[in-house]
Amino acid sequence: MHAIVAGAGLSGLVAAARLAEAGHEVTVFEERPEAGGRVRSTHEDGFTFDRGYQVLFTGYPAVQRELDLDALDIGRFVPGATLARPNHRSTLADPLRAPSTLVDTVLNRDVTLRDKLNTFRLQRELASRSFESLLDRDGKEIESYLDARGFSREYVKRFVAPFYGGITLDRSLSTAANVFEYTYKALSEGAIGLPAEGIGAIPAQLADRARAAGATIECERGVTALDSDDDGVTVEAGGETLTADAAVVATDPQTAEALTGVSTPDGAKSCVTQHFALPERRDLRTGRRIVLNSADDRPNTVSPTSDAQPAYAPDGQQLFVANFVGQQARSDAELAAEVRGAMGDWFPETTFDELELRHTDRVAFAQFPQPPGYRADLPVPTAPEGNVVLAGDYTRWCSIQGSMESGKIAADAVA
Ligand SMILES: Cc1cc2nc3c(=O)[nH]c(=O)nc-3n(C[C@H](O)[C@H](O)[C@H](O)COP(=O)(O)OP(=O)(O)OC[C@H]3O[C@@H](n4cnc5c(N)ncnc54)[C@H](O)[C@@H]3O)c2cc1C
Repeated sequence: MHAIVAGAGLSGLVAAARLAEAGHEVTVFEERPEAGGRVRSTHEDGFTFDRGYQVLFTGYPAVQRELDLDALDIGRFVPGATLARPNHRSTLADPLRAPSTLVDTVLNRDVTLRDKLNTFRLQRELASRSFESLLDRDGKEIESYLDARGFSREYVKRFVAPFYGGITLDRSLSTAANVFEYTYKALSEGAIGLPAEGIGAIPAQLADRARAAGATIECERGVTALDSDDDGVTVEAGGETLTADAAVVATDPQTAEALTGVSTPDGAKSCVTQHFALPERRDLRTGRRIVLNSADDRPNTVSPTSDAQPAYAPDGQQLFVANFVGQQARSDAELAAEVRGAMGDWFPETTFDELELRHTDRVAFAQFPQPPGYRADLPVPTAPEGNVVLAGDYTRWCSIQGSMESGKIAADAVA
């Protein structure tokens, strides 16, 4: 069988690798100059800049199944977070996995004892459930879900809003609670990390795997039309017409809808990410934990990125990544001034005059909105007519996990 895959994001690459490994002929068409889709990195003067603030949750089942994590040489953040507001920082750790932080966490006055107990209870409850069963639970928004479980308003405001607001790109926490439960379970069971070569090493590894199994990946050849009949599929790509037995449409949701006529989710969650360098490394005592802005969203988070993954900065230098949720009207320089101001407020014992803005990403489409009930509106992979199957996070949920899983499901359906 010959299968064409449109789109070389994580979903298309997993589909291509699996189909090629099953012995099928596979051709991938990607409209951009390189594979990776939304997961990309650039390298400049010894720094690595991921496109938008991205991290890998090693606990995701598809990540463990599809990737060689050892080869990615993951640098890990320490579980938990540093909660910051002007002239105040506190550590919220996972004492089960980092026992040395037990004292910090118990003494943390940003979080009540009831919140700590609720956290343990939630962790235990989610550990006893399968990932898949969590996705099928749908109902509340994250905020009302936590409210119903007895978490305090302060805990939600100081920890959950910046942390999960950063993951869902929605600090109002109106995303479906199943996204919270899934990521919470993955965080409890794995690490948050970054590959030594940047987040783009993930699709690069998948592309190598697909090629090693015999797939061809043709970049700068977008698919412009797709037709299917009893004999197979006809695809127009890069001005050429080709035929194949089957096709996987693994593009962004809007393009997939245009190519197949199947309705896909509308809307976009955006972010602006700024990458900053310090010429000499300073120990801010974040303990390799992400710094959450527990007062407001300017910026939402600052990540001590090169502390967790030293390969992201040249020796002796340091890289911080600040993330703003949503599109921002302010200029790069204005946003950078806000980041310097916030860091100065959080770490008054040091100055950030030397914090140099190296790179800004304005990502208009990072995720599709996932309000309660969103799963009922997602397209099923086999919805297109004929031998055409959909892949992409928009068929599952928006994450590295959702996109990789969708690639496997599409490959199984085609095979
Ligand atoms: C800034 C940002 C931060 C994120 N952070 C995280 C995170 O920390 N953790 C996490 O788990 N997830 C994160 N995500 C989500 C995750 O990256 C996505 O869910 C995932 O990469 C989507 O993969 P995909 O294959 O479904 O789609 P895409 O990556 O969108 O791939 C679609 C591909 O199709 C190509 N294409 C489009 N049209 C055509 C055409 N006509 N012909 C051929 N090719 C075409 C595109 O160029 C692209 O390569 C983040 C996303 C962004 C953008």
